[in-house]
Amino acid sequence: MDDFISTFIRITIIILLVRTVVSLITSFVVTRKMRKAQQDTRQNPEQSSAPLNRDSLEQTRREQLMSMELEGFREKKEETANRTVRDLVKDDYCGKLIEKSKSYIIRDHEQYRHFCSWECRRNYIEAMGSEG
Ligand SMILES: [Zn+2]
Repeated sequence: MDDFISTFIRITIIILLVRTVVSLITSFVVTRKMRKAQQDTRQNPEQSSAPLNRDSLEQTRREQLMSMELEGFREKKEETANRTVRDLVKDDYCGKLIEKSKSYIIRDHEQYRHFCSWECRRNYIEAMGSEG
């Protein structure tokens, strides 16, 4: 039984030693890496992390601006669409909605009448003529 305990203690001590050595090596490596990074920063101040962050910040700001511009563009597009909707007129003969700029127009009793086609315009005039 004593033999078992002594073996156990020895194994524990070995494990502790190994762990200590590993942690020492790790801290040594990390310290070296940090020192190297500091040296790099001192040698190349332009490539240090701070200006990089500023660059990425600027890029983010630029992206925000771009998206804002895009939204403005979208709003303008919607405005144009609304204007087009507002410029729609009703065909006085067949009742179809047509774009004012593409419609056939006649003046009838101080009022403008819009038609989708030359045929509708003609039919309307014929109907008007037959009525009186
Ligand atoms: Zn029509």
